[in-house]
Amino acid sequence: MAVFLMLYANHADAASWHAVQGDVIEVTLTGIDDTATLTCFGQQWPVKPIAGGGLRGWIGVDLKKKAGHYPIVWQGKKKYTDDLLVQAGSFRISRITVKKSMSQFDAKAVKRIHHDQKMLRQTYSMNVDASPEIKMNGLPVQGIVSTPFGAQRYVNGKAKSPHSGVDIAAAKGTPLLAPLGGKILLREAMFLNGNTVVIGHGNGLVSVYCHMNNFAVKQGEWIKTGQKLGTVGQTGRSTGPHVHWGVHFGTARVNPMSLLKGNAESPMADRPYKLKQSR
Ligand SMILES: [Zn+2]
Repeated sequence: MAVFLMLYANHADAASWHAVQGDVIEVTLTGIDDTATLTCFGQQWPVKPIAGGGLRGWIGVDLKKKAGHYPIVWQGKKKYTDDLLVQAGSFRISRITVKKSMSQFDAKAVKRIHHDQKMLRQTYSMNVDASPEIKMNGLPVQGIVSTPFGAQRYVNGKAKSPHSGVDIAAAKGTPLLAPLGGKILLREAMFLNGNTVVIGHGNGLVSVYCHMNNFAVKQGEWIKTGQKLGTVGQTGRSTGPHVHWGVHFGTARVNPMSLLKGNAESPMADRPYKLKQSR
C-alpha cells in the first residue's frame, strides 16, 4: 500500500525546472488536457499540444529576474504546480568610449531617444496573428560576438543598463537574414539604435535588429524565415559595424542564443550556431 501511494504521489508530483537569467525554457506536462493554460511570473505563456497527449510550453526569464524559486502553474481540468529555479547569470563587464555627442545629449536628442524607446516598447505588446515555432532557425548573420547578452555596460565610464541583446560584428554590407518568419512591426532610423527592424513572430515573441546599413523590408510586410532584412551597418551609436540582436518574449528581455535550434530543413541550415567570443 505504501508503495502504491508513493507511485501515485510521484505521478502527480511537481516537476523541477531550472533556468539562468535571460533563458527561454521549454517545459512539458504529459497527461494534461490541451486546453490548459501555463502561468509563471504573473503572466500566461504560449503552449502547444504534444503528440500522445499533454502540452509543451515556453517561459521567458527576464535578464534581471531575481534569482530564486518561482511556481509554474498548469491550469486545466486539474491544476499542477511545478517549481522553477532561476539562477543569476555570469555576465561580463563591457566598457566603451564614444564621442561626447553620443554620450551627452541635448534636449532635442533626449526627446528623440525617448520617442524611439516608446516606439520600440509599443512593438513588444503588439498582437501578431501568427503562431510559428518559438525557436529561432539560426543566426541573423555570421560574425564575432563583440558584446554578449547581459553584459554590464559602461559608456565613457558611466554605468548604463545591462546589454539586452547580442552584438555580432560583421563587415558592413553583410546580409542580415530573419532567423524566424513574422511581421515587420517597425522599420525606423533611430538616434542610438540606428536603422532598426522589429519582427513580431506571434506568441508574444519579438526580435529586434539595430545599427543596420540599409533595409530590404517594409513596415507591415510579412516575411519568411531566412528572408533578407537588409545589411549590417554602423548607424546610430556604434563603435564598429555590427548588428545588435535583441529578443523580447512576453515582458522578458531574453538571450537570443537560448532560442537557437538545429534544423536541417531550415532555409538557414547553412548558418552554424558557433560564434567566436571577442574576449
Ligand atoms: Zn548591442
